[in-house]
Amino acid sequence: MAEPLYSMSISRLAPILGRGEVSPVEVTEQFLERIGRLDEKIHAYLTVDADGALAQARNAEARRREGEATTLTGIPLALKDVLATQGLRTTCASRILENFAPPFDATVCARLRQAGAVFLGKVNMDEFAMGSSTENSAFGVTHNPWRRDHIPGGSSGGAAAAVAADLCTASLGSDTGGSIRQPASHCGVVGLKPTYGRVSRYGLVAYASSLDQIGPVTKEVRDAAILLQAIAGQDRRDSTSVPAPVPDYQEALGQDVRGLKIGVPKEYFGEGLDPDVREAVEAALKTLASLGADLVEVSLPHTEYAVATYYVVAVAEASSNLARYDGVKYGVRREGRNLMEMYYNTRASGFGAEVRRRIMLGTYALSAGYYEAYYKKASQVRMLIRRDFDAAFNKCAAIAAPVAPTPAFRIGEKIDDPLTMYLSDIFTISANLAGIPGISVPCGFSSLGLPIGLQILGPPFGEPVVLQTAYAFEQATDFHKRRPEF
Ligand code: GLN
Repeated sequence: MAEPLYSMSISRLAPILGRGEVSPVEVTEQFLERIGRLDEKIHAYLTVDADGALAQARNAEARRREGEATTLTGIPLALKDVLATQGLRTTCASRILENFAPPFDATVCARLRQAGAVFLGKVNMDEFAMGSSTENSAFGVTHNPWRRDHIPGGSSGGAAAAVAADLCTASLGSDTGGSIRQPASHCGVVGLKPTYGRVSRYGLVAYASSLDQIGPVTKEVRDAAILLQAIAGQDRRDSTSVPAPVPDYQEALGQDVRGLKIGVPKEYFGEGLDPDVREAVEAALKTLASLGADLVEVSLPHTEYAVATYYVVAVAEASSNLARYDGVKYGVRREGRNLMEMYYNTRASGFGAEVRRRIMLGTYALSAGYYEAYYKKASQVRMLIRRDFDAAFNKCAAIAAPVAPTPAFRIGEKIDDPLTMYLSDIFTISANLAGIPGISVPCGFSSLGLPIGLQILGPPFGEPVVLQTAYAFEQATDFHKRRPEF
């Protein structure tokens, strides 16, 4: 049986669109029908923009006719609801932005629009990207397509679930402490967090500005390279975007890993690692070795401080970034007898419990007398974590590790225990603190049939070696070919 259009990767769908065997409008209609029929089981989407998507598809059709197409022309994408889309509701899964429609596109959205991509809609997430399970969405949890009583991961849970469930061809997420890689791992898809500064964040609603990056969530590694190519590069609207030239990311995929030194950080294989995850990741290391990679042990000695460091830096920056939601300029407003009371009512009713918790923690960590003890100290430890990676990358070209200590957990399992939830971020947050790129690529399944991801980390701007390693692994295995039945 021919592969259905909705389960195709970008790299398989693009040539079919290119030859005119199917039109962008037909593809878009198929996805809209599928979302209408199946998304109630997954709840990946917060907003489906049928009219906008069809208009973009008609545009793509015209471009294809006129021979002005790119690979992405007519490709249906879903966008995490933290990315500003002009005229289209962008909620960050928060009540406070429930009806907010930005007057502009995020740079990544503008670039994809320019390339002719089609935006099916906006996908679910933890409120303001704070969380690891999508349970913090104000609009209901997303279900893991592999087991609907399990979380899809977070915060880009809607993006990963939509890609896994074939409710879009690919998606964009954001990663502040693992929010692209961890849901990709839990849903059995590919998720790439680029180097800090590689992709413009103009129009990404800020969570923690020294950590946030936007990146692709895709069915296959090649698609991650294609999407990164489209969104990477300097943007004068984001002063943290770096002027470094953007290499040809697909070129990296052609190279094998023979003789490539891959570091295995011993701190990532200690106690607390679920046996199924350990088994899958260790088998993945063997596969890399059988492909000719040279595995070397490395040490990232400050790993044990990463969770504490991250949860000071992230909440401090969040408390400052979220000060702007006060009922004056954005979204919901709850009136009061005076200005102060209006702020109070708006923020108390607009933010969910986890966001309020983090604003309080962050405000505390930044307050006079505590700044030195918390934020400053955390910034110092952050430097040590960064140096751990510098030292490791003197010994190896890339690092291979687990993405998360366990497969996806059950909905409700950790939601009343924030500390346990925070601890589950242990293997992803260091990359954000250090600013380095990382990918999750499917590497196995748990005894319950839940996907497990392998994480490949690279030095700053080492996206090519990350993609090269992930691609070599993917091509040698077929975990990425399995699809959930739901
Ligand atoms: N789980 C982490 C947090 O809640 C990471 C979230 C993210 O990367 N956006 O902060």
